[in-house]
Formats: sequence, C-alpha cells, structure tokens
Amino acid sequence: MTRTTPPRPIDVEARFPELRAWRREAVRLNPRPGVPGPGDDSMGGPLSWPADETWPVCAGEHEDMGDGLPEEDEPSLVPIVQIRREAAPGVPFPEGRDLLQVLWCPFDHDNGFYCPEPRVYWRTAAEVGEVRPTPSAPAGAPERYVPVPCVLRPEPVADYGLAELEPGLRKELGERHSSSAAEVGTYLDELVRVPGTKLGGWPGWAQGPQWPACAGCGEVMEHLLTVASWEFSPGSERLWTPPEDREEQERDGFPPALDPTGLMLGDVGSIQVFECRSCPGRPSAFSFDCS
Ligand SMILES: [Zn+2]
Ligand SMILES: [Zn+2]
Repeated sequence: MTRTTPPRPIDVEARFPELRAWRREAVRLNPRPGVPGPGDDSMGGPLSWPADETWPVCAGEHEDMGDGLPEEDEPSLVPIVQIRREAAPGVPFPEGRDLLQVLWCPFDHDNGFYCPEPRVYWRTAAEVGEVRPTPSAPAGAPERYVPVPCVLRPEPVADYGLAELEPGLRKELGERHSSSAAEVGTYLDELVRVPGTKLGGWPGWAQGPQWPACAGCGEVMEHLLTVASWEFSPGSERLWTPPEDREEQERDGFPPALDPTGLMLGDVGSIQVFECRSCPGRPSAFSFDCS
C-alpha cells in the first residue's frame, strides 16, 4: 500500500517566503516492516548482490561503547537501504546506474562519532546476474543497529533547510511561527523539515549542520541519505503520519509509523551520508548526531 504524507496544515512558503530559497525535494522512504525480496526497495532487506562479488566486511577499529564488540575480526556489513532509481525521483544516480545500496558495519567505531560506519554502492541492476544470498547480521551485532526488514513506500516531499539559515533569521521565523503554533501544534522545525529516513533533501541534523568536506577536492559534500532512529518526533505525528497508517494508530495507540525499523542510533539520533558528485568514484562520508 502506498503512503501519502498529508499536506502541511499551513502554506509554508506563503507564511515564510524566506524559506523558498531553501526548499529541496526529499524522498521520504516510509519504511514499514515487511518481507522484501532481493529485487525490492527495502531497509534491512536482502540485497541484489552479485554472486561473484564477495560480501563486504569491515576491517575498521571497533570500540565498545556499551553494546559490545564483534566476535569476528572482520564482521560482515548489514543492508541498510536498497532503492531503485525509478523509486527515487530527483536523486542524481551516476550515469548508467539504477540501483543504490547502502550498508553499514553494525558496531561502534573509533571514528570520533562512535557509531556504525556506512558504505555506498551504485549498481546496474541488469548486470547483477546470479544473486548472492544476503548473510545474517554478524555475531554480537547490537539489535539497535540492525534494521528490522522493511518494505519502502518512497514519496517526494518538500523539505526546507531551516537549520541552514543564519541564526538571526531562524529566530525571527520562529517568533513569527509562535503566533500560529496553536493552529499547527508543533515547532517550526517539525513543520518544515522532513523527518525520518530520507534520500536527498536536507540532512536530518539533531545538533545543527556539520557538512563534511570531500577528502579528494576539499569541496563541501552533498547530502545523499539520512537514516533516522524514528520517522518523526512524538507530538508531530498529526503532521507526519500518512492516513494509511492511522487505522493502526487508532487500534494500537502508539503511532505505528514512528519506529518501523527498530533502529536506535545514540539517543534517537541519525546517521547522515554524504557524497562528492565531482570526484571520480563518488567518494562518500558520513556524520552522526543525536539529541
Ligand atoms: Zn566496523
Ligand atoms: Zn570531491
């Protein structure tokens, strides 16, 4: 079943014309627990991985931050997101590639962030041929770093880079919003930023911008993907729960769309994946933050 985020309760760009220049289209992935196949768009699902290519492993330095260490020297990466080009309108795939796969090593790393380390692969689906079975998560992997298998219902939604505004202007918009907050029922940030796991749009910062620079060319990298612990903040479910999920919400009380993947990155944080689209091979980088 599709998922359709309800239109925002007010016309954001009419009320806040300053945000027009900071609008981008994000693809909200709307993960929901399911049984995806290797050819499907998924989170935590089996990947369309060529049988003649070894499964990637991590040779990095791990750090026990309370969730334990891998039992093997080089643990296998786990699938995070797989998505086909046609399901991700507006995301600039490399020429000739039509399948994006993001995996990560599901342990804390001694990398300054103490979080899983993502890796990005771009493929041509027709060249995969025989598919290698996706291995199970490596022994000792914390549950909170391994997503529950989910199908995706990707959906383009306008995203506004509120966190990127100059602090004075951000404060001014916040004050203007407070006069309408009762009508909207949430903070400005929750109204204008697309929450949850998304491709493109603006990074899901918790603490504010920390754009990485490309190690190759030194330029600021582009946001590719944010993987979030929760799909929205509790309290803003009226804005961000698709009507297709409401029935379940009424039945079960707790918003079902809030935490479909079971991920918990730090304290409800997110991992943001970046790439450089100018350098050969599209180098990627990541950041992590939480509240
Ligand atoms: Zn690792
Ligand atoms: Zn570069």
